[in-house]
Amino acid sequence: MGQSAIFLDRDGTLIEEVNFLSRVEDLRLFPFTAEAVKLLKDSGYLIIVVTNQSGIGREIYTVEDMHAIHAQIQVELDNAIDAFYFCPHLPDEGCACRKPRLGMIEAALADFDIDLERSWMVGDKKIDVETGAAGRLSTALVLTGYGHEHQVLLEIQPTLIASDLNEAVKSIVSLSSNGSI
Ligand SMILES: [Mg+2]
Repeated sequence: MGQSAIFLDRDGTLIEEVNFLSRVEDLRLFPFTAEAVKLLKDSGYLIIVVTNQSGIGREIYTVEDMHAIHAQIQVELDNAIDAFYFCPHLPDEGCACRKPRLGMIEAALADFDIDLERSWMVGDKKIDVETGAAGRLSTALVLTGYGHEHQVLLEIQPTLIASDLNEAVKSIVSLSSNGSI
């Protein structure tokens, strides 16, 4: 049996939403991010970030700029993120990786031994819920970032809706420990 994993959206979920974040100086973790990530780690979850970064395809910032931001996230979270997967493409490029398509999830499934039935996708957008559902994961919408705007757009109901990542993680851990999921 594989490991439980949390697939985490980045912008608006793990860190504050900044339109086309390109500079480490503009990176802001939420005040609750470290606590949420620690609870996930202590509960044995793999933490895998899956993020659409079309700013690369739009040439607003480079892959190296993005990697610098991910390196700083790791510094601030004591290297708690097990892997980052990103899609650099434009929305109209028809790639296989841009959420709500499953390329990044599939790449992670090839790299790690993951138990899908006990794994989750957590994000602030409709596409995050759709990605998780298409990947047969449980799903959580967080109401940070674009969460409030996207809550009313949902066509697929998530497994749960939470005010923020920390609340989502507490619910996930408690559902898991009482055997619901
Ligand atoms: Mg987001």
